[in-house]
Amino acid sequence: MITNTSPEMLYKNSNVLAKTAGPTIIAGPCSAESEEQMLKTAIGLKKLQGVTVFRAGIWKPRTRLGSFQGVGTIGLEWLKTVKQETGLLTSCEVANSSHVAEALKHEVDILIIGAHTTVNAFLVQEIAESLRGVDIPVMVKNPVHLQLQLWIGAVERFHHSGIRNIGAIHRGFATLDNAPYRNHPKWDQVLEFKKVLPEIPMYCDPSHIAGRRSLLRPVSQRALDLGYDGLVVESHYNPAKALSDPQHQLMPQELDMLLQTLRIEGIDVDGARKKVHLEELRKQIEHLDDELLDLLSRRSKVTSKLEKLQKAPATEAPQAAVHWDQVLESLLSKADSAGVDKEFVQTVFQEVRKHYAKTYLYKA
Ligand code: PEP
Ligand code: MN
Repeated sequence: MITNTSPEMLYKNSNVLAKTAGPTIIAGPCSAESEEQMLKTAIGLKKLQGVTVFRAGIWKPRTRLGSFQGVGTIGLEWLKTVKQETGLLTSCEVANSSHVAEALKHEVDILIIGAHTTVNAFLVQEIAESLRGVDIPVMVKNPVHLQLQLWIGAVERFHHSGIRNIGAIHRGFATLDNAPYRNHPKWDQVLEFKKVLPEIPMYCDPSHIAGRRSLLRPVSQRALDLGYDGLVVESHYNPAKALSDPQHQLMPQELDMLLQTLRIEGIDVDGARKKVHLEELRKQIEHLDDELLDLLSRRSKVTSKLEKLQKAPATEAPQAAVHWDQVLESLLSKADSAGVDKEFVQTVFQEVRKHYAKTYLYKA
């Protein structure tokens, strides 16, 4: 949690990150590839309503050596050309203090902290320190895994080094069951983040959540329904040729169609938030039901083992079975302290006992 600061302090009212008439759209290619690719894409995007900021990855955090690592500093020259030619503001990801120095030298307007950097408090601290005394908006992506405190902590570090124009980008989380997403949105977690930092503008990156074109619309709409301030969408004039993330980038005209179909009027944010909470609670119940089933199956295996042992020829005097009444009494008193209805517990365990009666577990 941010300490000793009021939420208003975290967010200097800015028309760059805050929602103006409609959501702010940040768009551009996953990676800067050539000046031609940057300009062709930016000119296409400039025509779209709501697009005010151009994005492009200059240094790419890639899993494997040998994949495209980004063009590096030359891409910052192309970003500058984009700004001169289109008037769009520019943004790029920085992952260490030398990236920051290069980006500032090339007059990048907004810095983005990528998901693979937010996970590393050392790097975030290094970047935050290198921005001390610099007045530039910083947008912090959520960390790769579901660690809300790291996301909040990164915002806290930038605030601590004097950055007052901070935004957050929700790009989804790597979970064990991501399907059908590339990164699971876990919308409820963003609502938790918002509870702690309500004044931080929240942007959604549907591209890295969806990982495929068909999911971009529902993810973007859900974000807008939840009152997000804008979207960060990857766009390339020719996605088929993209050197990274070709599967979800949209041509500028496709992005235009997407934006046209998104509903922004008459949105019921409270209703959408309630829906997210309900969905989350339903999922929790599903999960608990699975656990109940798993427990019953484990119990069944143990009772079978017990039954086998009891039927085997005795080498010593068999242990006396337990009195059912005593078992039930103990369960009911535990039910009381666990806050579970006693009658319900009695019914459930009587059924369980009936089911396993043949195992001679209990005395009558
Ligand atoms: C990106 O935006 O190009 C990117 C690498 O995203 P993330 O940090 O969300 O993985
Ligand atoms: Mn990408």
